[in-house]
Amino acid sequence: MIVDTVPDALRNVTRSLSLGWRLACRRLAALARALAAFDPLRHMAAVVHLVNRLGVGWTTLIFAVFSALMSVSIVLVASLFVDMPNYRTHLTLSLLIPLAVSSPFSFLICSALRDLDKARRTAIVLARSDVLTGIANRRAFFEGANRARRRGGDTRRSKAVLFADIDHFKAINDRYGHEAGDAVLRSFAVLLRQCTRSEDLIARIGGEEFVALIMGADAASLSSIAEGLLQRVRETEVEYCGNRISYTVSIGGALGPSSSSVDKLLALADAQLYDVKRNGRNAFQLANTLVGGAQLSAA
Ligand code: GH3
Ligand code: MG
Ligand code: MG
Repeated sequence: MIVDTVPDALRNVTRSLSLGWRLACRRLAALARALAAFDPLRHMAAVVHLVNRLGVGWTTLIFAVFSALMSVSIVLVASLFVDMPNYRTHLTLSLLIPLAVSSPFSFLICSALRDLDKARRTAIVLARSDVLTGIANRRAFFEGANRARRRGGDTRRSKAVLFADIDHFKAINDRYGHEAGDAVLRSFAVLLRQCTRSEDLIARIGGEEFVALIMGADAASLSSIAEGLLQRVRETEVEYCGNRISYTVSIGGALGPSSSSVDKLLALADAQLYDVKRNGRNAFQLANTLVGGAQLSAA
């Protein structure tokens, strides 16, 4: 009888232990998942904001004073219920200990949050900008264009896209080298920035392809921007390793109501660009889909 019950009891204990172990493992895995998903920057946005506004030193001081006040309050409340013969000593310790303990921890946490936030902002800028020219990349262009569309603040205004492509760029690379080609791309990005308004969204969306999203312009002002750009490019010589590199650009444009989709305008501008290339390059052609609009060309 005893011989039968001992293995049973052992089996029950083993089963309970195994169940307990599996439950503990599952809880630990859930905790690990929660910790992995924890985003300190999102959950501590208020602290990050404080660190960015006041700096690490002042934020640390605020936390230290706050924890000391909390500690003193707890001692004061406790003194109402518990007899404290060394009341002053308790009060002094409750003030000093949190100051000494929380200050270094707050300093470390605030510094880490500041560095994390800086790294996050740098990562966002890098993900959205073209490394070579510093202007927006393809992704940032479409994100920006869609954001402007969602905001819907330009319902009475027009929307236009200029699509510029450097002429015979491959020949520049072949003749002067890839680095010289890079210098030409950087130079063109600067000219594009200078010839457009600060509110216009400009981007490099391909190798030697650049675009500008221009809100609220009419056909005349668009032509003036594009012709100004063509002229600036013609006058510019890019100096690279003793070489003076001249180049030209072709520009296609599309103008429509502000409700137009950027993809559609871009496709239309691309068709104009194709025409310009076919007709000899170094010129501008605009498709105007506004009511009463027509095709405009400039060279
Ligand atoms: P087209 O006048 O018809 O536009 O001719 P193209 O030579 O400008 O155009 P093509 O498409 O034949 O050549 C584009 C070249 O741009 C090919 C590619 O090696 C070069 N390219 C693309 N990205 C970069 C870059 O980042 N730097 C440099 N230096 N060259 C690049
Ligand atoms: Mg091209
Ligand atoms: Mg080209």
